[in-house]
Amino acid sequence: MDEQATALRALAEQIGVCPKCELSKTRGRAVPGEGNPNADIVFIGEGPGFYEDQQGRPFVGAAGKFLDELLASIGLNRKDVFICNVIKCRPPGNRDPLPGEIEACTPWLDQQLAIIDPKVVVTLGRFSMTRYFPGQAISRIHGQPRRLDGVLVVPMYHPAAALHQGSLRRTIMDDFKKLPGILNEVLAKEEAKDEAPEEPAAVQMQLL
Ligand code: URA
Repeated sequence: MDEQATALRALAEQIGVCPKCELSKTRGRAVPGEGNPNADIVFIGEGPGFYEDQQGRPFVGAAGKFLDELLASIGLNRKDVFICNVIKCRPPGNRDPLPGEIEACTPWLDQQLAIIDPKVVVTLGRFSMTRYFPGQAISRIHGQPRRLDGVLVVPMYHPAAALHQGSLRRTIMDDFKKLPGILNEVLAKEEAKDEAPEEPAAVQMQLL
């Protein structure tokens, strides 16, 4: 197992016994997240629902089935990407997470992202969008990548929203279709940077 996989696994073990908020008292299982530890793309949802809480895995219910379809539509599957949530434990009755719960859980997500170091982060729904775009409306910014702190963040509707509101289905499918192009552009830029000729020694001296 490589270093990133080992680090993520150690983190998942800590998340599994995290006592930092009240959700630890009502959870079945914590849901750290899963997927490729070296993923180029990380998807961040909201938090575990009923089935996720039972299985300890993210997006295994109806919204997860749609997420699988969306991934397949761009030639990917769960093993290619990393999928996780803003909060790692299910709020009772699937209520919205409270600000204190999000605050307590944020260091786990921060550490996951630091380990994976993805090229692209896709936020699914309101709570993960707020981490990067506080005060913005998803209806205005969905599907539009923005570079923030060295990573390209693409806000998208939550797959569950598309299940409840049929018209959003097309919107989220169209936003997903943009992802391969967005990722290829990032990868091409990085490659170009790696291949750029070094500054001549004399110029380097002046820059020092
Ligand atoms: N919805 C989410 O946001 N995350 C899950 O893991 C499942 C449903």
